[in-house]
Amino acid sequence: MNLKDKVCIITGSARGIGESIARRYMEDGAKVVIADLDLDAAKDTASRLSGEYPGEAIGVAMDVTDEDAVNAGVAEVIDTWGQIDVLVSNAGVQIVHKVEDFPYSAWKKMLAIHLDGAFLTTKACLPHMYKAGGGSVILMGSVHSKEASPLKSAYVTAKHGLLGLSRVIAKEGAAHGVRSNVICPGFVKTPLVEKQIPEQAKELGISEEEVIKTVMLGKTVDQEFTTVEDVAEVAHMFAAFPTNALTGQSLVVSHGWFME
Ligand code: NAD
Repeated sequence: MNLKDKVCIITGSARGIGESIARRYMEDGAKVVIADLDLDAAKDTASRLSGEYPGEAIGVAMDVTDEDAVNAGVAEVIDTWGQIDVLVSNAGVQIVHKVEDFPYSAWKKMLAIHLDGAFLTTKACLPHMYKAGGGSVILMGSVHSKEASPLKSAYVTAKHGLLGLSRVIAKEGAAHGVRSNVICPGFVKTPLVEKQIPEQAKELGISEEEVIKTVMLGKTVDQEFTTVEDVAEVAHMFAAFPTNALTGQSLVVSHGWFME
């Protein structure tokens, strides 16, 4: 189970969980594509990681909600490295409001990034995986793929939807050796979560400490945040697993917040 020389596209990997997955893959010697909305940040991350690990990395501009941009980014990868073995659809944002206050434009933005983004990147990568006779698609879900929280209607809806998409990819991809799985992390302290702490405190009328203690970590077994490294380890397992035995699944990594 090794990713040496595998070409791995990771969306939203200029920072946060995606960057950590890139690090884990490059430890193995993978060729990693840092695909992000923010091209400068993607290039910076790619050059930083290239100096630290045996693998290689390139930064590619990609707004996952824009079909032309996704197709152009994937074409650039094919021009550079000629193949795609792993797609991690990870780009994501968070917007929190009560349902009755949720701006429709914000709802549509959330579904576009999380759901359209997973669909468009998978659609663009699958033909290359099918041609090569195999590959691994990994969608970044959340505990919120299986559980609901107040204020997160768009996020919870989108993350639940990814489970369905992944299962269809698993069924269609099996004949071509393509597997599809979802990672479902608990709260991980990245900019996406840091931003939510004051927002939720304001919306719920409680202190920031209470948001962390009660809302975010209250149901974990040990009151600990999941780390970017924890999530990267699961992403490595899904990417490197060698057969169709592990497909159509979702794995929760959340310090026991959600158990099934
Ligand atoms: P982050 O905010 O640290 O990083 C997100 C990255 O996505 C950024 O580099 C950003 O530029 C990029 N991005 C945003 N919109 C994009 C777009 N349209 N096209 C391409 N790139 C775009 O976030 P994170 O915490 O690392 O989250 C990564 C994924 O993990 C998301 O899908 C998120 O929902 C999921 N997740 C996060 C947590 C958590 O607690 N942090 C928990 C469960 C799931």
